[in-house]
Amino acid sequence: MEKTGSCLCGAVKYTIKDAKPEAGACHCGMCRKWSGGVFFAVEAQPDTVTLEGQDSLTRFASSDWGERGFCSACGSSLFFRITAPGPHHGVYHFGFGTFDDQSGVEMAGEIFIDRKPDTYSFAGNAPRMTEAEFLALYAPPAD
Ligand SMILES: [Zn+2]
Ligand SMILES: [Zn+2]
Repeated sequence: MEKTGSCLCGAVKYTIKDAKPEAGACHCGMCRKWSGGVFFAVEAQPDTVTLEGQDSLTRFASSDWGERGFCSACGSSLFFRITAPGPHHGVYHFGFGTFDDQSGVEMAGEIFIDRKPDTYSFAGNAPRMTEAEFLALYAPPAD
């Protein structure tokens, strides 16, 4: 499905031509600091994404394998993008909260569930992955 979104002030806008109709929650400490809460994200392949207003977009390298894009005018957390080489290189994870229309999107699951504060938890039976389980999926195989 095609989805559009923007930051709070509207300086940065994006279109995802073929957005997956599911959003996942990340409970890692970096997402918590960056988003101010739980980061809900929708995955998007790089060749399906159009970004407008890149003059107002700042990219912060939050780790060796990912960067986070935010609006330098209003501070909205727009996306996490994988910068590490490999099959996931360039893949975006757009903040679900920045979508213009949130309809038609299901809950995909939760990652870093063992990092979640006790304060809240989500209902439902979507798959939950620990930090170790998640990293095993993304980390390059040891040789
Ligand atoms: Zn903005
Ligand atoms: Zn995270």
